[in-house]
Amino acid sequence: MSNCIFCNNECNVYDTPRHHQLNTYRCGYCGEYILHKIGLDAICNIKDQSDKFKIACILNERRLKGLGGIALKNKTDKEKTVCDYPLVSVDDILDAFPTKASDFLNRALLNLSRLSERPFDVIELNMVRDNKDGLHLFTSNIDGAKAFLHELAEQKYIRFNQVHSGYQWHVFFLTTKFWEIVENLQKEEVGNKRAFVAMWFDESMNDYYKNGIKKAIKEAGYVPVRIDLQDFNEKICDEIIAEIKRTKFLIADFSGLRSGVFFEAGFAKGLGREVIFTVRKADIEKLKEHFDTRQYNHIVYDTPEDLFKKLYNRICATIV
Ligand SMILES: [Zn+2]
Repeated sequence: MSNCIFCNNECNVYDTPRHHQLNTYRCGYCGEYILHKIGLDAICNIKDQSDKFKIACILNERRLKGLGGIALKNKTDKEKTVCDYPLVSVDDILDAFPTKASDFLNRALLNLSRLSERPFDVIELNMVRDNKDGLHLFTSNIDGAKAFLHELAEQKYIRFNQVHSGYQWHVFFLTTKFWEIVENLQKEEVGNKRAFVAMWFDESMNDYYKNGIKKAIKEAGYVPVRIDLQDFNEKICDEIIAEIKRTKFLIADFSGLRSGVFFEAGFAKGLGREVIFTVRKADIEKLKEHFDTRQYNHIVYDTPEDLFKKLYNRICATIV
């Protein structure tokens, strides 16, 4: 047993298969992460405990969301993976820490909802002695966590457990009001989780869509949107534009070199959306003849499985 670099709780450390210079950490809070044996200092300037706490909060949130592990590097590299984990920089993880009060509140509520297997289970946070579960609330000090939970009780989102001597502030029940709010937040999350797929609607692409693109989007926790699969008979351009405006990111697959895909990718880029470019190996040369998209770093794939793996990692590294 060793200690987690970020949350300092006990965790297991292993040699990483095929990467002997890397350690794999398995922490009950931060989940699985891979780090070079020379340590955190070698890849970033973080020494501050508060930054380590913030990183632990984000890794813990990823774990609660059911997302896979992560390999920590000095910079995010969307092309490569280590043991199928995306390479993500410590700075990018730090940037994901909530800064606005509404963000703190919403994400803490969502974390609490993920802690209960059944909606009306009693939740007991491990906070009285060392504030371990403060990670779920993005709050490192115990007084802050206590004040936050009292505010939730005041707003009737939670009800503290009553004992003969009074009540326990770290043991509580999530109320119906809590679940109403959380259901709305989950809907918003889903609303922000649309991934538009621009591609050639040819039968030869069906398997690549089903077992590659669609599977990767869904496993990364997003909802794939493909216009031809929806019921639009007229004004398809308006609908496409409306969908792209609502989408979080776009996958542009250039196999078959369809002009619509170029248009949709360009439109999404113009709106500032993240666009992930993919193309079948058989089409990459043809694509280069027509258009210089080299700057966009295509995922080039062979099989649907190959596409799935590369795209899944790219989504996790780029979008989450
Ligand atoms: Zn940890």
